[in-house]
Amino acid sequence: MSILNYFFGSNCVVCGKESEDKICLDCFNKIKFFPKDFYFERKDFYFKKIYPLFPYNNIVSQLIHKYKFDDYRSISKLFSTWLNQYFYEIIDSYDYILPVPIHIKKEKARGFNQTELILKEGGWSGKLFVDIKKNISTKQQSLMISDVGRKKNIENVFEISESGVELVKNNSFLIFDDVTTTGTTANEIAKHLYFCGASKIDLMVLSLA
Ligand SMILES: [Zn+2]
Repeated sequence: MSILNYFFGSNCVVCGKESEDKICLDCFNKIKFFPKDFYFERKDFYFKKIYPLFPYNNIVSQLIHKYKFDDYRSISKLFSTWLNQYFYEIIDSYDYILPVPIHIKKEKARGFNQTELILKEGGWSGKLFVDIKKNISTKQQSLMISDVGRKKNIENVFEISESGVELVKNNSFLIFDDVTTTGTTANEIAKHLYFCGASKIDLMVLSLA
């Protein structure tokens, strides 16, 4: 980065090239967005639909990794802009949006919950459901090899607070996670919501890996 650039411009967060936007046009064009309002159905889960923004690829992986682990908090604005562009009406149609909680230790270390920050940037603070905690620190789901391992890793780690339970009944929920592989984490959260009487539960993600 040149000194001029430091004061007057910025660089693409993915490739480092000079760019007016956080992501340069070359990198942006390599992200293949799903069509607006696109979803997959999941009949075997406690949530019924998955709304993904884009399939996983090298660019997406770098964006998400930099956002979560390299403290590029400003990337949250990109994600929230895209989510609103593709899913605004969908998001708006739910009573609550539930950003997948991370363990308090992890949140302290990172300084923020990555899914919550994106929703706040998108203007959804008023709909956030945050009365759920992750009580046990788990291994990263993507590192687990088998589905059974993933399920065991995430079982019984979430807890809805007493006041939260009151809010769930007869309300609709859109769970939001950054990346999902098998949907196991979101399904574990959806299970709690289901048994507390939620009227509808779906999942929105940045990407499907
Ligand atoms: Zn770039």
